[in-house]
Amino acid sequence: MNTRSNGGYVGRFAPSPTGPLHAGSLVAAVASYLDARAHHGTWLIRIEDIDEGRSVPGAAEEILDLLHRLGMDSDREVVWQSRRKHVYEAAYDRLAGHVYPCGCNRREIADSRLGVAPDGAAIYPGTCRHGLAPGRSPRSLRLRVPEAGDDVITFQDRLAGVVTQRLASESGDFVLKRADGYWAYQLAVVVDDAEQGVTDVVRGADLLDSTPRQIFLQRLLNVPTPRYLHVPVVRNENGEKLSKQTGALAVRPGDEAGAVAALRQAAGFLGLEVGEVKSLAEFWRAAVPAWAALHCD
Ligand code: GLU
Repeated sequence: MNTRSNGGYVGRFAPSPTGPLHAGSLVAAVASYLDARAHHGTWLIRIEDIDEGRSVPGAAEEILDLLHRLGMDSDREVVWQSRRKHVYEAAYDRLAGHVYPCGCNRREIADSRLGVAPDGAAIYPGTCRHGLAPGRSPRSLRLRVPEAGDDVITFQDRLAGVVTQRLASESGDFVLKRADGYWAYQLAVVVDDAEQGVTDVVRGADLLDSTPRQIFLQRLLNVPTPRYLHVPVVRNENGEKLSKQTGALAVRPGDEAGAVAALRQAAGFLGLEVGEVKSLAEFWRAAVPAWAALHCD
């Protein structure tokens, strides 16, 4: 595969190994891979196994094996978040002054009825912002977002266009270290994208609403903000996002024809015209320019 670098493009696919890849996560993998290849860039795989409670043993290896069989290999060594806790700890230390211990549990936050953030998390009412109430012990560590008025984050998504979020009312102060002791996805993803020099994030639109929080963290940590392209999520016949919880089937092609069929399905969902391709090599030869025609200047 072509790994010539043009303009220093670095992209990545960052699966959480909570199960095997399904048709939805494959779409995100294919989109990020095609964007990197269309830009003659570097493509990385990062295993987001920071939430060890949700990680399924063997799932990461199965994902890596499938990607390899589909022709998608990381251009650099695969990074595993579970091995990088010291790096998240060091980043967290740089945020001193912006974080505070929080003693609230989920029920208390939900009971405050401030509503839910677009990703479904209850918006934090700020109870512990100015100190833990007497008798409470810290559970999580939370990042303070600016007051309303100074809290607007705007960015240009390559597909969705201009996206604006008011952090104070639409997200609230968010968790960086969870009550179970794990570093939160929002911190780990920002630290890793920066350290790996990621210039372009291509991922599912279910993460569009997390992006303003990540941009806010990038600014606090003084690291660059990548370009973003959020591709539509695949839904089942009930309109639910494909996921392990909604019973999505694993992609497990038996042979090259099956691999091509899985890739053609992902490409079709992404609106790419690849024609009658019979081998993996033919698929990628057709899909890269098809992607470039839609998404590259
Ligand atoms: N690990 C996340 C997931 O599997 C993706 C994170 C990202 O692409 O930023 O949903």
